[in-house]
Amino acid sequence: MRLSAMEGQEQVIRSLQRGLIHERVGHAYLFSGTPGVGKKTIARAFAQSILCLQPQAGDACDVCPSCRQYLSDNHPDMTWLQPDGATLKIDQIRGLRQRIRYRPYESPSQVVIMEQADTMQPPAANALLKILEEPPGPVVFILISDRGQALLETIRSRCLPVAFGPVPDEAIAAFLQGQGVAETQVTLLTLLAEGRWDRAARLAKEGPPPIREKAIALLKELPQAGEVTIFRWAEEWDKNKEGIAELLDTMALLMRDQLLINQQVPESLIVNGDCAGLLVHWPPAALLDGVEKVLAARNWLTSNVSGKLLVEDLLMTLREHVRRR
Ligand SMILES: [Zn+2]
Repeated sequence: MRLSAMEGQEQVIRSLQRGLIHERVGHAYLFSGTPGVGKKTIARAFAQSILCLQPQAGDACDVCPSCRQYLSDNHPDMTWLQPDGATLKIDQIRGLRQRIRYRPYESPSQVVIMEQADTMQPPAANALLKILEEPPGPVVFILISDRGQALLETIRSRCLPVAFGPVPDEAIAAFLQGQGVAETQVTLLTLLAEGRWDRAARLAKEGPPPIREKAIALLKELPQAGEVTIFRWAEEWDKNKEGIAELLDTMALLMRDQLLINQQVPESLIVNGDCAGLLVHWPPAALLDGVEKVLAARNWLTSNVSGKLLVEDLLMTLREHVRRR
């Protein structure tokens, strides 16, 4: 895919393309940012543009001999390093040194992409540092890291920093729509994707996480639930604090949605568009208090309170509020 056609990281792409257009591509880049925001995909397209023999306005042409080799994963001037096991090893860096020793075969420069560059231990990192200090010929390094700060300062200072932020919600929503996600679920799945393509792709395929269904069922049955039922529910969550966090977040969102629906706001603001009406019988005061109680419980989760007691207490309180109408 061409650089300029990529969505979600416009600022990064513009700055990379400026370098290409003005023939001022750096010697080394550090692509950093949370996982799933497009670092690898953009590195791949950027490398193709650098290697291309007749780039157009910062985009690779896709048809020159270099592009054809690149697109068939068979470019002599391209090296792509991934950790061997858990780390990028010194032997890999030595091998790299051998490989880039000669002039480029096909393109004006060689390109080296290093995934998870922060996994290099000091010996490997120092070996790379030597190469960065005295590159044998025209080579562009693209280091990729989810934890850029974990790299040696001496390496970081030799790289142009390229910071990737979260993918904007509009881009994620457009992607989900393109994947055929139902309109009523787009807002919810966009929120759950948290600006990450990998999550968006998974959500498009699998739909909302199962915990959401549990939260919906729980809120639906809560007004009629007896104490024994509530105790049983709480039991189920006892050893699962991470699950409780997700459950509480979902409950808070469902209540917030109902409050907004009561205000007749535009549909696009409703996160759980597919279960509008779920809490329509809850008195507004119960919803308001409910959100507050759920968020308070959410804060308590970080203390060493028992998950069971926390859920139990919350559900009993909520039930009381709903019944008091
Ligand atoms: Zn080309």
